[in-house]
Amino acid sequence: PLAVVAIGGNALAREDEDGTFDEQYRRAIAMAESLRWMIVDGWRLVIVHGNGPQVGNALLRVESAAGKAPILPLGICVADTEGGMGYMIEQCLQNELHFAGHDREVVTIVTQMLVDKSDPAFENPTKYIGQFYSEEESKKLARVRKWQMKKDGERGWRRVVASPAPLGAVCAGIIKRLVEEDVIVIAAGGGGVPVYHDDHRLLEGIDAVIDKDLAAAVVAKEIGADTLLILTDVQKVALNFGKENQQDLDHISAKQAQEYFDQGHFPKGSMGPKIRAAISFLNSGGKCVIIASVEQASEALAGNAGTRIIP
Ligand code: ADP
Ligand code: MG
Repeated sequence: PLAVVAIGGNALAREDEDGTFDEQYRRAIAMAESLRWMIVDGWRLVIVHGNGPQVGNALLRVESAAGKAPILPLGICVADTEGGMGYMIEQCLQNELHFAGHDREVVTIVTQMLVDKSDPAFENPTKYIGQFYSEEESKKLARVRKWQMKKDGERGWRRVVASPAPLGAVCAGIIKRLVEEDVIVIAAGGGGVPVYHDDHRLLEGIDAVIDKDLAAAVVAKEIGADTLLILTDVQKVALNFGKENQQDLDHISAKQAQEYFDQGHFPKGSMGPKIRAAISFLNSGGKCVIIASVEQASEALAGNAGTRIIP
């Protein structure tokens, strides 16, 4: 069987921790431990990880070093985190498999993700990235750097970029060939670097970010995966999440998922994209989506934990 596993960026750097390299490394080891049994069990895997906290730090480094080191575009920062986080996860998996006496190759692919330049998301960017600024600084950045700035609550102004729909990984064919050869592939980290085809069908990067759950669903479709396993920091998808009448879900159909989505149970910035990813994967031939916590990955695949969504 072939699965795409999507893992939250928070699984590697948590809000309540400093996100130091040591902490991230420890978390990467825990993640590798939780995926090891799946690999030993014979699953072929593509791993897609988030990069929210990491790319935030990468942008902060660029801005802090302004005037001393050249500015890097957002796409390069995303590519850097794909490489850096991929390296960490790749090495932890290799060491886990070595302990298990299991002979499987692991590789990271820095992935370009195609988007449509006329995606309506570009008309109204909604994704906050990087640090907070005062209104004055924000006006200057808008002028000098051509950034779009919006107020993010009471804490100040921030840069906003679009989050367009991913259409396909430029390297989908290579990912497919590698998994067919039993290679474990880490791809589309942070959703991948958004690129588009210009009028001459040349590839060009664009300042935007792609949701990693939607990217994972696209990759899963392209390589014909059976299962999309979305690992995050809650054990199940719930109705009325966080309220007194919260109701955890064990099994739902894609149709029910859509109904609950329409009723507003899944917020845009967190559970929403996971449910949208699930529905789109199932509607295009996917057999099963499981949303579970990183710790319960194995129980969830065995049907004893998490929320299972089926066509
Ligand atoms: P990740 O980094 O894994 O993508 P997110 O923070 O984007 O994590 O999404 C997971 C979060 O979604 C959970 O921590 C939870 O607080 C939140 N959430 C919002 N609505 C729901 C819901 N209906 N059921 C479960 N979790 C929900
Ligand atoms: Mg998320």
